[in-house]
Amino acid sequence: MALVGCKCGTVALRFADSVPCWRLECCCYDCYAALWYCEIKLGGPPRPAQQCVDSVYFANDFSVEKGLDRLGAMKNFEQGDTTRFYCKDCASIVVADHPAYGCKIALTQASAYSDFEGLKEAELSAPRGRHQLADLPEGAAAELPAFAGPAEFIYDKCSQNLLDALPAIFEEHGKTGEMNCQVLLAAVGPVFVPSDEDERMRGGPATLMGGDPKASEAKAEGKPEPEPESA
Ligand SMILES: [Zn+2]
Ligand SMILES: [Zn+2]
Repeated sequence: MALVGCKCGTVALRFADSVPCWRLECCCYDCYAALWYCEIKLGGPPRPAQQCVDSVYFANDFSVEKGLDRLGAMKNFEQGDTTRFYCKDCASIVVADHPAYGCKIALTQASAYSDFEGLKEAELSAPRGRHQLADLPEGAAAELPAFAGPAEFIYDKCSQNLLDALPAIFEEHGKTGEMNCQVLLAAVGPVFVPSDEDERMRGGPATLMGGDPKASEAKAEGKPEPEPESA
């Protein structure tokens, strides 16, 4: 049963499984912006050196071994897809949920931190893909370490092999445990949405579920929605 912990040791979650459902490397804007915010604005652990984040998916079934009262939930912006759970004491992000996970799987990127061992007792195999390279800043793709798997599993957008595998993952490995990301959200909410650092937090592309980071900015500040551009 894999253990996910924060840097300061206040929070620990134990997944029901030790074998992940999937593993990939995420180069998306959103993941890295969240890690950046937690590091720079909340004093969290250093984000990975590059925008390419180890991402390990488990069945959505875990227990909170400690620190339930110190867990917080955050979204990068109001219309964001991903809800990330973090330790309020050390700002480590420990687990995350996305609507596409169907309440069946959960994501941890705790293994991406280099200054502490955020993920333990997991039977990890190699990442099965690297995705969202279109989100990388200019020139950054060339700076990444070579992907260890087949080049066909490197994707500009969302990992197609994961999307293809999702129904089987939900069916065969997915779970919705007594404690899971949705129950956790109900326990620790409301969701924190940063109101500073708009440029960084809302600088990404539209989300997988169609959320527009810029639209939420206009909404949040009570400005009228931008006029559609005339042809
Ligand atoms: Zn902590
Ligand atoms: Zn990502």
